[in-house]
Amino acid sequence: MAKPEGRHIVKRLPKRADYDRETINAILDEGMICHVSFVVDGQPFMIPTIHARDGDHVLLHGLKGGRMLKHLEAGHDVCIAVTLLDGLVLARSAFHHSMNYRSVVLFGKGQEITDEEAKMAAMKRFVDHLTPNRWDSLRPVTDKEIKATSIVAISIDEVAAKVRTGPPSDDDEDYELPIWAGLLPLSLTAGEVEDDPVLNAGIERPDHVEGFDPATRYKNS
Ligand SMILES: Cc1cc2nc3c(=O)[nH]c(=O)nc-3n(C[C@H](O)[C@H](O)[C@H](O)COP(=O)(O)OP(=O)(O)OC[C@H]3O[C@@H](n4cnc5c(N)ncnc54)[C@H](O)[C@@H]3O)c2cc1C
Repeated sequence: MAKPEGRHIVKRLPKRADYDRETINAILDEGMICHVSFVVDGQPFMIPTIHARDGDHVLLHGLKGGRMLKHLEAGHDVCIAVTLLDGLVLARSAFHHSMNYRSVVLFGKGQEITDEEAKMAAMKRFVDHLTPNRWDSLRPVTDKEIKATSIVAISIDEVAAKVRTGPPSDDDEDYELPIWAGLLPLSLTAGEVEDDPVLNAGIERPDHVEGFDPATRYKNS
């Protein structure tokens, strides 16, 4: 069988690669932020930002006129990474220390969304990606806000996930050493909710805030 090719194909530790779209979508959906890298005039940039997924596209947005959005609107190449950290892998040697993670790296070009209704639908995606069911409770966006916002879609096509799970993987002879080894699981959890200090009296906290769980929220969106 011919070897899969392309800039998105994982070469280092390919056993950790996963090209299954369900796995990739789940990582994109659980991730709250991504890092977008691009080159302008020979200068590489790496910008952390919010993303959302709409079917087979990743959406990015921001105020019109920013460097990243201008680059994306012009249809230039970008590379997007979403990383979920699941734990520290503490081995018997420094060399074999690692992390458990789920990550996605996506290559593509931006396509600007200009239609106002499509832009509004995309804005809903961003809000509900982070806090499912919140959009419908908000003051509707205005034409001015829609015009001030730039939104681009990047096709989820040249993409791979890489996933590490499980305990440390030490050298055979090191398993006899009197050194503790194991996993330190890590996860993002919500803290105690704080009402806005100037919140009007009588406004209840909505369910999407009270029951918020960062790891599973997207399953309700
Ligand atoms: C939280 C975390 C911590 C890590 N720590 C380290 C570290 O300390 N040192 C280290 O060398 N590596 C680390 N990695 C792995 C790192 O992401 C790369 O996979 C690895 O460095 C190999 O990079 P490369 O360009 O040589 O790989 P290659 O296999 O040559 O990359 C080829 C293509 O595979 C895809 N790819 C590569 N890595 C990933 C990925 N993680 N997720 C999805 N697609 C990917 C990209 O499209 C890339 O263009 C870490 C990963 C994560 C998520």
